[in-house]
Amino acid sequence: MTLKIIGLPQDNNSSFMMGPALGPDKIKEALICGSSNMFSENGLDLGSEGIWEDAGNLNLKNLKGQAAFSKIRSAILDLLQNGDHLIGLGGDHSVSWPTIDAHSEIYPSLNILHFDAHPDLYDSLLGNRYSHASPFARLMESGKLQRLVQVGIRTLNKHQKEQAENFGVEIYEMSDLSKVNKITFEGPVFCSIDLDVLDPAFAPGVSHFEPGGMSTRFLLDFLRAFKGRLVGADIVELNPRRDFHNLTAMVGAKILKELISRIFITHYS
Ligand code: MN
Ligand code: MN
Repeated sequence: MTLKIIGLPQDNNSSFMMGPALGPDKIKEALICGSSNMFSENGLDLGSEGIWEDAGNLNLKNLKGQAAFSKIRSAILDLLQNGDHLIGLGGDHSVSWPTIDAHSEIYPSLNILHFDAHPDLYDSLLGNRYSHASPFARLMESGKLQRLVQVGIRTLNKHQKEQAENFGVEIYEMSDLSKVNKITFEGPVFCSIDLDVLDPAFAPGVSHFEPGGMSTRFLLDFLRAFKGRLVGADIVELNPRRDFHNLTAMVGAKILKELISRIFITHYS
């Protein structure tokens, strides 16, 4: 029973450009690269034994569509059934569908806290119902989730607004950011972080630049302070091909450190 970090290197459901399959290794490299120390901001030493384990990257080579999703779902479910908690590293955002679906099997009434520039609620995009622009539509159709709360959205179009209304999604757009401190959760929370929620000035290594985003500092403070029992998380959409000097990989690693700290302190200390 440990906190495991698992890489999910898949990007073939990306609608605009490839590259996020290279993300998991870059975030893990940044975490241990030596340019920063291994302490989280609240003083947990992530370099000491037994805090977290690297579960490696799931081998998704040559797997597409349902075959890849099934493999992700069953690998995640195996870890959860073993009593582990985990943080997934994408990969494009399509990997969150099987990851969260597996969590909802173990945690009834699961809440999702989703940070993203995009609502990812398309019924399908470019003919793909499993696009990285659709995972939260698939999840909400399952009816297994208690709540989906989206923060940082700034690309809501007519179709996705209708989808959000039909599914009862709670959306805090970037222009509503002053209201997010009201968000509290009853029961377990899975946190899904698409790095494009951050302003491209902070996180340029993503496929879809959407200016007007959140600061890294705001996200870190929110992750530390929000009221709810965090049981798992993922960090997705790092595209190393767009990054400068591994800057966005470092941002991903910083977020990872704070998530590890919060999950460890909640469940293992
Ligand atoms: Mn996304
Ligand atoms: Mn996005």
